[in-house]
Amino acid sequence: MSVRSGRQTNVWSDNWCTLSPIRAFITPRAIANAGFSLDTKVADVIADDGHWLWPQAWYDLFPVLINISPVQITPDVNDRLCWKDLEGNLQGFSSWEVWNCLRNRCQRITWASSVWFSQCIPRHSFHLWLVVKNKLKTQDRMAVWEAGSETNLRLMCCPLCNYDRDSRNHLFFQCVYASEVWRKVKSLVDMDDVTDSWDSIIQWMDLNAHSRTAESIICRIVVAASTYFVWQERNSRLFNQNRRSASVLAKVIIDTVRLKIMGFRFGRCPKQQKILDRWLISKKNIDIDPG
Ligand SMILES: [Zn+2]
Repeated sequence: MSVRSGRQTNVWSDNWCTLSPIRAFITPRAIANAGFSLDTKVADVIADDGHWLWPQAWYDLFPVLINISPVQITPDVNDRLCWKDLEGNLQGFSSWEVWNCLRNRCQRITWASSVWFSQCIPRHSFHLWLVVKNKLKTQDRMAVWEAGSETNLRLMCCPLCNYDRDSRNHLFFQCVYASEVWRKVKSLVDMDDVTDSWDSIIQWMDLNAHSRTAESIICRIVVAASTYFVWQERNSRLFNQNRRSASVLAKVIIDTVRLKIMGFRFGRCPKQQKILDRWLISKKNIDIDPG
């Protein structure tokens, strides 16, 4: 507690001076014998001239009391609850500050804003986050757990290309099928330098995480949507025997991204016009900023 009027701070139990809580060494009996109660506030133990009002005898019984420096009382101002931050500075008490002190700290993640951004499609972003962390239950990871019988493990193969076990790097997007989907979708954005290897994609995400251009935001939506639908196709083939061709899947991705783009507010600059042309979005279907 940061003492102002001293009217809101309990002198015995609140943390307001270096010796707090004073109750730790002065018993309730001693408090009562001195004429105070357990509810006594800091203001009640300070005289107008600033000296402490507890009995002189207490200085012999509890010599540490000498160490409590005088407190400047400011009448009519409420005492304030404070929080000591990681550097030991007093801050206003807020859940943000408290969380900041308690939370685990890791190194800053460079790709974070490429996964999470305000225009993202949340379920695609959540999925992409799992991809980046390599947490999808791909066959290479399942094999390590030795799930199922030995025969089942040996039969495992990528349902998209039927070649070897699938893995994060295989599915996104080195698999022949996924690579074809990725190539078709990528033709609508400026990602020529990005190959179908996961390293290349995560490198792009690192480099472009903080770009605010419409192009870059659309690229991020494209990456997330592509991983999402390729994984959906993989599962659908594995569990439902439903198959879509690479062209059909690419169209699903492109349609999803186009729908998202149509919700954006566009200006009249030529760059944005280029985006609309590329995605075959008619001006009458979108919001154009009058400015
Ligand atoms: Zn494959």
